[in-house]
Amino acid sequence: MNKKTIEDIQVKGKRVLVRVDFNVPQDGSGNITDDRRIKAAIPTIQYLVNHSAKTILVSHLGRPKGKEGDKEKFTMRPVAARLSDLMDKTVTLAPDSVGPQVESLVGEMNDGDILLLENVRFHPEEEKNIPEFAKQLASLADLYVNDAFGTAHRAHASTEGVTKFIPGVAGYLMQKEIDYLGGALSSPKRPFVAILGGAKVKDKIGVIESLISKTDKLIIGGGMAYTFLKAQGKEIGKSLLDADSLDFCKGVLAKAGDKILLPVDVIVTDDNPFDKGPDNVQSREVSVDEIPADWQGVDIGPKTAKAFAAAVKGAGTVVWNGPMGIFEFDKFAVGTCAMAEALAESGAITIIGGGDSAAAVEKLGFAEKMTHISTGGGASLEFLEGRELPGVVALQDK
Ligand code: ADP
Ligand code: MG
Repeated sequence: MNKKTIEDIQVKGKRVLVRVDFNVPQDGSGNITDDRRIKAAIPTIQYLVNHSAKTILVSHLGRPKGKEGDKEKFTMRPVAARLSDLMDKTVTLAPDSVGPQVESLVGEMNDGDILLLENVRFHPEEEKNIPEFAKQLASLADLYVNDAFGTAHRAHASTEGVTKFIPGVAGYLMQKEIDYLGGALSSPKRPFVAILGGAKVKDKIGVIESLISKTDKLIIGGGMAYTFLKAQGKEIGKSLLDADSLDFCKGVLAKAGDKILLPVDVIVTDDNPFDKGPDNVQSREVSVDEIPADWQGVDIGPKTAKAFAAAVKGAGTVVWNGPMGIFEFDKFAVGTCAMAEALAESGAITIIGGGDSAAAVEKLGFAEKMTHISTGGGASLEFLEGRELPGVVALQDK
């Protein structure tokens, strides 16, 4: 997958529409509580400014439903202010994302100026990808840049529709995602090890199917390991069971069992830590052959962590999706932490995909040690499934 980037096109004096992901978390008063997504888009914006483009930014923020007060609640105003601070440059906020007022603001732009359009999801046509709306959006610019990987798995007007009217290329963030995720899947440095965990097998069937043929080793931990253990005929007590996926797991084990590494020991609790609170449940370490009937698995055990870490050591590429346990509670984040540490020390190309996995690695303090943490939760999973993302397909090939 080789897509043109902003460096492959002439942007000087051109109006460039850039789809960014400025969907930042805010507190009740609209203050931005985490501006990493804004910061992450700056290299692309800075490049365009430095190369005398007229930069027109477009993003969604939250899920406005057209209710009373939504315009105020989901306005991009705080984002414009923060971007302006971060870039030390005026960022004008347009009153809308399309229409005559916006068109005249664009007409007044000088080379190097930045205009941020108002929340594109104020128009339901955005998510419905209505061609007329995409055309209006595209008419603001000469060129299109997509730097929002997190929405690339959705064919919306601002992620896909616009490319029917103006040529589209990848921004730096998008390029990095394509390079790392795409590179890992198409030409991984071997041995290629994947680690899968998280909650449901069902959510990851596509990922397992895609990775099983590409990897040299597939490590399965987290909640989804129990359905595999059950498929091997083990007693899993009250651990997470995805009964609908039992046959699938049996099939995978029959086909590729020698590639798969499952837990040998786990941490079990006598009750659900989400219901009772992590401090009000008893926990202990057991072999996977001795899970008590009314206990549930919440983390991988120390022997498993060691075995998984050994499999990661010496890997050329490691792709990780899905925490090894209920990492939301420090007590049961031990296995996830051990894996993060193993990846950090492996010397391999390490790629983290999935929303909770990225959050876990950040929370545990290993973010800096990873080669690439995908910014797109759902998008990275679809990518790992080997699916073509509409927002990526729509960009021009090199
Ligand atoms: P991602 O968002 O990275 O794709 P998932 O959403 O699939 O990851 O999985 C994350 C969730 O899996 C977390 O909420 C975590 O608590 C849960 N989980 C991990 N291990 C277990 C387990 N043993 N039992 C129940 N839930 C688990
Ligand atoms: Mg998740």
